[in-house]
Amino acid sequence: MSNPREAWEVVIGLEVHVQLRTAAKVFSPAPWGFGAEPNSHIDPVSLGLPGSLPVVNLAALEQAIRLGLAVDAEIPEVCAWDRKNYFYPDNPKNYQLTQMARPVVVGGSVEIELPGASRNVMGEHRRVRLHHAHLEEDVGKLSHAAGGSLVDYNRAGVPLLEIVTEPDLRSAAEAEAFLRALHALVTQAGISDADMEKGQLRCDANVSLRRPGAPLGTRTETKNLNSISGVRAAIEAEVVRQARELEAGRPVVQETRGWNAEAGRGYVLRDKEDAQDYRYFPDPDIPPVAIDRARVERLRAGLPERPFDRQRRYLADLGLPYTAASVLVADLALALWFEEAVAAHPANPVGIANLVANDLLRELAASAQPGEAAPPAPAGLAGCKVRPAALAELVRLTDAGAISKQQAREVLAEMFLTGQAPAAIVGARGLAQNSDAGELERVVREVVADPAFAKSLAEFRAGNAKAINALKGPIMKRTQGKANPALVDEILRRVLS
Ligand code: ADP
Ligand code: MG
Repeated sequence: MSNPREAWEVVIGLEVHVQLRTAAKVFSPAPWGFGAEPNSHIDPVSLGLPGSLPVVNLAALEQAIRLGLAVDAEIPEVCAWDRKNYFYPDNPKNYQLTQMARPVVVGGSVEIELPGASRNVMGEHRRVRLHHAHLEEDVGKLSHAAGGSLVDYNRAGVPLLEIVTEPDLRSAAEAEAFLRALHALVTQAGISDADMEKGQLRCDANVSLRRPGAPLGTRTETKNLNSISGVRAAIEAEVVRQARELEAGRPVVQETRGWNAEAGRGYVLRDKEDAQDYRYFPDPDIPPVAIDRARVERLRAGLPERPFDRQRRYLADLGLPYTAASVLVADLALALWFEEAVAAHPANPVGIANLVANDLLRELAASAQPGEAAPPAPAGLAGCKVRPAALAELVRLTDAGAISKQQAREVLAEMFLTGQAPAAIVGARGLAQNSDAGELERVVREVVADPAFAKSLAEFRAGNAKAINALKGPIMKRTQGKANPALVDEILRRVLS
């Protein structure tokens, strides 16, 4: 009998909160930032003091619109704010300003890439539809200790964009792919720093099961997942739990759940609240905002190329291998660095990509200070002594046959340390590749005549084409590794034929 669990279809919808990258809070000029002294980033508005009035921060609204444009959403003519009423000390006003009826972003979709069959094969690309995204204020932070509870209002009023997907995701792996794609999109566009460790991107996961083709099942919502691995683990555990319930004949109860990452277990937080519990109504302090079309077009023009659009261009137009393309597009600064090098030597984007994605990134990673938490490799790019034009020059030297690919790697390592020009290093080290046909032919004939290699020679002549490679090693050795490999191959075949 087949495993009954395989007969369930998993349905997931995510609600992702991202803190928008702005200098000031969403309804007041107070600054905000991670790690400040508690209650130092506050003002009358974020404390909800009587008589204070919110004013919409245009920069936050613009960031929300930019997200909408990046996901091909509709930006309505007008957006407006509502009060979501609830009593909890993390929010001193007893209501949260949010957008219920008229959000700033409607619809749209995010392109995701599923894992491929192996690391260097591209997986399937799909689009996950968004229902909408709305702009709201973040709330304060409570810390519960033995002696009582503490509240820090630094985070109250930080601009938050809640991005709500349609129930389009079908597995924990797809949810993970969505979060990775969204993370790349918002960070590259400067919409959010989206640092999950700082709570700048948080996720609620709605999960239900159904028999294929059946209507949507009852869902649960697991709140406040703050790492990609946490999202994955929480969804996987919830799928197992619901399948067990359903197979035991117990219906899934619609509820709000929490996730204990240490224990690897979900738990019930509360029964699902209904929208009516919050008594939403239009906020009387903030008039609806008309969104100027010219501004929208200006914001659209200022967006960078989307990561997957860039990936497609690298594959189709530049002919890059998938692995190099995906490494490069994962970081905007790295991609732009690469493109600057290609502009300086457009003849060989693949050669440039391979050096950047493999060798340069390895040097950058290795140069991180010991003890430093391994930074994402491109972090040191800004201070890197190798400039794009110099790397392009190095590839040009290789393409011209002046040095071998192996020598290029060694030169790059030295460029990385000293910042010297490639030609200077090649000259100083006497690295230049030997393309002297006369001299190489002399060495080739020497090796072919050497009884030490008679066996390989006989194998080659007996039809084993690969045996020729065994002769190349000694030739390279006798030229101190400087022989031009293509020329050696050509001469060797001529001499043997
Ligand atoms: P609510 O009004 O209770 O917030 P929504 O309809 O707005 O519910 O949906 C919230 C999130 O839950 C969305 O991401 C949506 O895709 C997801 N969702 C809705 N129904 C289901 C379901 N049956 N299974 C999984 N996810 C669901
Ligand atoms: Mg909702």
